[in-house]
Amino acid sequence: MTADKKIREHSPLEEREYHTSSVGLFFKVDRLLSKKESPYQKIEVIENEYFGRILLLDGLVQTTEKDEYFYHEMLVHPAFLVHPEPRDILIIGGGDGGVLKEILRYPVRSVHLVEIDSQVIEVSQKYFPWLSSGLKDRRTELVIADGREWIEGTDRKFDIVYVDSSDPVGPSTTLHQKDFFQNMKQCLNKDAVIAAQTGSLFYQLEEIQKKNEFLKKLFKHVFFYTSPVPTYPGGSWSFVYVSDETHPLQIKRNPPEGLKYFNPDIHRAAFALPNFLKEKLG
Ligand code: SAM
Repeated sequence: MTADKKIREHSPLEEREYHTSSVGLFFKVDRLLSKKESPYQKIEVIENEYFGRILLLDGLVQTTEKDEYFYHEMLVHPAFLVHPEPRDILIIGGGDGGVLKEILRYPVRSVHLVEIDSQVIEVSQKYFPWLSSGLKDRRTELVIADGREWIEGTDRKFDIVYVDSSDPVGPSTTLHQKDFFQNMKQCLNKDAVIAAQTGSLFYQLEEIQKKNEFLKKLFKHVFFYTSPVPTYPGGSWSFVYVSDETHPLQIKRNPPEGLKYFNPDIHRAAFALPNFLKEKLG
């Protein structure tokens, strides 16, 4: 048995997410609720006594019942705090519905959700109904398509665009590339903001640096920000805020009541970066 095979042999009652070949996160599987292979990825839902229900795509944690609010609040609310009049919103990815749920707290006119894999939507509606309820909201337009292709073909324009992609592997790869963000410029209204998840501060620093380099050529304002996310690799996650007109620290409104993590102080603190990241971003 090769060393790699040995590392990978583990009890079927455990789900392991490998961050590198020698480090990862494991969850005791108290119940396997669903396991299927879509044309795009493996989709699993497990139940763990501490984190509750957990959605995994190709073995990577997407969201958990217990800590989903860290990521979903931090991706969504910073842009809403500073955009002058956010009415039409776009989500690329986001099939679990968590980002949509946060957006619908605001009196927006429309939210387009462009998700490549309809089976993620079905699994989320079945096993995460509290997260995916927004898919039934009359303001939601659900599109099953590749986000990159849809951006190239649409003539619609948006005030805020969220890129809630999975990791830069599989179908998500194209959502982390320069031409995807370049094409997005044709879908932006004046003052528009894009907020995207940009991976682990600790394990994906090179990817963050590469993204920073091409984004700075495309947009006037490029600001990375961070947040703890307990079940993501390294426990701390990065996001990027880009805009040509709207600055992320010129706050124009308070966030809605009822949030569990985000508030205006967290907003300001999130844009304060650790030295090792500042050095990488130049
Ligand atoms: N919060 C998670 C994270 O940070 O990894 C992402 C959650 S969400 C489940 C990611 C979604 O992006 C998945 O449902 C996946 O099917 C979708 N996706 C991946 N590639 C896509 C593409 N090219 N176009 C549209 N959706 C895509």
